[in-house]
Amino acid sequence: MGMQHDDAAIPVAEVQHQLEDLFRKLPSDIDLLFFTSPARNPQFTELTRAVLRMLREITSRIRLREFDIDHDLARKHGVIAAPALLFNPESCSLRWYGAPAGEEGRTFIEILLLLGRGAVDLSLPARKVLDAIDTRRDIKVFVSPTCPYCPQQAINAVKAVLARPDICSLEIIDIQCNPDLADRYDAHSVPQVWANGRLIALGAQSEELFLSSLAKLEQQTVFIPDETAEEIDVDLLIVGGGPAGLTAGIYGARAGLRSVIVERDLLGGQVATTPVVENYPGLTQVAGKTLVDIMVTHALEYAKIFPGEAVVEIRPGQPLVVLTSRRKFTAKAVLLATGALPRKLGVPGEARFFGRGVSYCATCDGPLFKGKKVVMVGGGSSALTEAMHLANIGVAVTVIHRRDRFRAQDHLVRNFEAMGIPALFNSQVVEISGREKVAAVRIRKDPGGEESTMTVDGVFIAIGYEPTVDVARKIGVKLTAEGYIGKDGRHRTNVPGIYCAGDVEGGYKQIVTAAGQGAEAALAIFEDLVNPYWVKGKTGADGS
Ligand code: NAP
Repeated sequence: MGMQHDDAAIPVAEVQHQLEDLFRKLPSDIDLLFFTSPARNPQFTELTRAVLRMLREITSRIRLREFDIDHDLARKHGVIAAPALLFNPESCSLRWYGAPAGEEGRTFIEILLLLGRGAVDLSLPARKVLDAIDTRRDIKVFVSPTCPYCPQQAINAVKAVLARPDICSLEIIDIQCNPDLADRYDAHSVPQVWANGRLIALGAQSEELFLSSLAKLEQQTVFIPDETAEEIDVDLLIVGGGPAGLTAGIYGARAGLRSVIVERDLLGGQVATTPVVENYPGLTQVAGKTLVDIMVTHALEYAKIFPGEAVVEIRPGQPLVVLTSRRKFTAKAVLLATGALPRKLGVPGEARFFGRGVSYCATCDGPLFKGKKVVMVGGGSSALTEAMHLANIGVAVTVIHRRDRFRAQDHLVRNFEAMGIPALFNSQVVEISGREKVAAVRIRKDPGGEESTMTVDGVFIAIGYEPTVDVARKIGVKLTAEGYIGKDGRHRTNVPGIYCAGDVEGGYKQIVTAAGQGAEAALAIFEDLVNPYWVKGKTGADGS
């Protein structure tokens, strides 16, 4: 703050005038405790003193007390570095380790104004997220005076603490002033937010996203407001928020259907955990999660999304009744875009060591095996993509495939071979063993059947997928011999009003084909709702 004195800067007197005006209107006084140490950060301390002196000249709202860091009060408030500023310490836990320099000057003034106003102006959706948090959140925001994005993120955190002083505490840490604290958290990019010892945000966020990240204790990239209605009537209910479901939401709503997407698990489905996608038209190379965020944000322009909500029952009829884990929907049509789940190997030790060395998701769990040795079981595109991802992040991976050649796409095989990742062909993992966690796999070589043991820290499994058909089966939707949902050329199942799209109907299982099927199904549904085949006695998938 006030560090520049060049001719282009706004004159200091004018800034003081504006600040005087702002502080004059504040209804509340602000208590500041300032802790210093002659031995630590003298320039930051002097700068803070100068700013505080200037502020006290223009407003009587600030009650300032300065103490040495060895004072009892520092211990009482858990002050660990100097200079430190504590804001209204009797009513909230808001500590700042640093000085109001550069961009941080904005944060500092904004905090004072928020405290002086005595009210926090959060948006209603953000407020709802914050109010729903019921356990402690101890937040650390790492900032730097040269970072223009930092004030926004720091103020998000300040608002959380001021609105919920009962459960939130905050430390704003300037990494230039406190390199030791930054090192402790490996916080070498700013803004960076930690809560309860977990990294929850990198970069600036909207207040809604910040508070969702704080609530879930992990970085959120798309904000979906919570919906409290117990009964909702729609035209099209889509089960599943992967590429097929999200695309169907966009197409359905654009065709004029009131469309909702219900997803019990991860939005984006398998794409969300795919390291890199290289074959989605228009995007040469994109992280799976980024592509999902783009799709979800797009779908939200049109359809409501209900994440973390499981469809438990669908009752046939017109309207169809859909019961979820949270509410009841009535719908004219239901699209099952439920995708597929990773197939299990079915060998001893697989279930026991799941989460303790056995994984079906290299993107999710790969970083835990950096510098360690793992096997990847499978010979398709997933196995090779994921093996390359593991190798790229420093995991020593060997692929184990039951045939003598891969089934993956050619260019993936070429890239894989170019990376020199070892592979064992004609080999199968027949047992996973260990004590607390995976320690070894037993491998059988065919033909001949000789067995060997390989010591490993992890076993990644990518051997294809099983379609998710539990809900479909319950309502009598017919399945194909391979277990996928049976459908006709318009994505109709045998049950009137119920359709399917994406990986759950089998086929190529590409993001682009799933999206295409979702679009086709939504358009077919629109046409059927205008002209219902079940009313006219026309037929569905099985000709009945
Ligand atoms: P997949 O193509 O069905 O391949 C599964 C692999 O696992 C096969 O090699 C299969 O062996 C093996 N396998 C199956 N059951 C096994 C068992 N019990 N024990 C040992 N091995 C077993 O599945 P995917 O690789 O997950 O791919 C699914 C779809 O997604 C495909 O259409 C694929 O093209 C697509 N995909 C595309 C990309 C991309 O374009 N970059 C990336 C990932 C996935 P066999 O060869 O003996 O059958």
